[in-house]
Amino acid sequence: MYRFSRAIYRELEDEILEDHPLQGGPSNHEQVLRACEAAVHRLATDMHYFAKPTKTLFNDIRIYFPMSAQERVYHVVDRYIAFAREYFSSLPMTGYDVAGNRIECRATTRRGTRCQRTPLPQNGYCPSHQHLAEPMEMPLAA
Ligand SMILES: [Zn+2]
Repeated sequence: MYRFSRAIYRELEDEILEDHPLQGGPSNHEQVLRACEAAVHRLATDMHYFAKPTKTLFNDIRIYFPMSAQERVYHVVDRYIAFAREYFSSLPMTGYDVAGNRIECRATTRRGTRCQRTPLPQNGYCPSHQHLAEPMEMPLAA
């Protein structure tokens, strides 16, 4: 799954501001790569609660780029986040995310416990809780 973060990094690495890290401190390049990895990891494991991935990642890394590159950075981030999102949504339903954690439906049952059924990748709700999904997230009728 880190091919997405590496792709973002590779597209942007030439624009990263030169810096002089303190002894042992991470360089700007490392900071950018780590922020991209963190965003992709969160997208892969927590997509439905990660409301604005493009904006979040852009805000995390924009300080490492000059003013003149900001617009390009935003567009590159936006493009790869969209790819990653599409890819993670299209993965077969295994009940586990890419990190191997069990995925459960987002709904709470009438007894107040978490619904334990396997959710659909499009919106994180199981087939019986599709009515709780935001209209935007409803899977297209087959
Ligand atoms: Zn459910």
